[in-house]
Amino acid sequence: WHRWIYDDYYRAYLIPLEKYGLVIPHDLVEESWKQIWEKGYVHEVAQFFATGWLANYWRIDGMTDDDFEWFEYKYPGWYDKYGKWWENYNRLATPNGHNPIVFEDVDYVYPHRCWTCMVPCLVREDMVIQEVDGQWRTYCHEVCRWTDAEAFRPTYQGRETPNMGKLVGHREWETLYHGWNWADVVTDMSFVRDDGKTLIA
Ligand SMILES: [Zn+2]
Repeated sequence: WHRWIYDDYYRAYLIPLEKYGLVIPHDLVEESWKQIWEKGYVHEVAQFFATGWLANYWRIDGMTDDDFEWFEYKYPGWYDKYGKWWENYNRLATPNGHNPIVFEDVDYVYPHRCWTCMVPCLVREDMVIQEVDGQWRTYCHEVCRWTDAEAFRPTYQGRETPNMGKLVGHREWETLYHGWNWADVVTDMSFVRDDGKTLIA
C-alpha cells in the first residue's frame, strides 16, 4: 500500500504534474495513506463488497483458518474488529433457510454513499454531511465534500466554471433502485443468464 500511494501515485503521477503549473495538495497524499491504511479502509471495502454479494455478479469465498491467521499476522488487531463478521459470512455461505448476509443481524451497519466519489463512506470518523442544492448529502471525507459543495459550483473563487463536471441527478445505486422489487433489480442489471438463473446462485 505504501508503494502504491507514495511511489506509484504520488511520485510517478502527481509530482510530475507540478512542472505544468498544477498545485499538488501534498498533505492529501498523507491523508489518503491514513484513511486507506491506518483507519482500515481496505478491510472495510472488503467487508462492504462481501456484504453486498447478492447485488453483484461475483461472491468472495469465505475465509479458511489460514486466511484468518494471515490477516491477523499482517494486520494485528484485525480479528477483533472483523473476525466475527467473517465467521458469520462463513456460517451464512451455505443456503439453510436464512437470508443473504446483508439482511441478517450480524452487527453490520450498511454505509451511506459518498455523493462525490460514489464509494461508500466506510471510515465513519471521516464522513461529513452538508445540504447542497436543497438536498442533504453524505461524503466519505471532507475533501469530497469540498469537491461538491465548493469546487464544483457554477463559480469557483470568483470565476465561472462552465466546463466543470456537474454532480447532479440520481447518482447512487441505492437511490436508483429505491423501492424496487429485488427480482426486478437483478433483471435490470442484466444479471440473469439465458437459462433463467442468476450469475451467482
Ligand atoms: Zn468520496
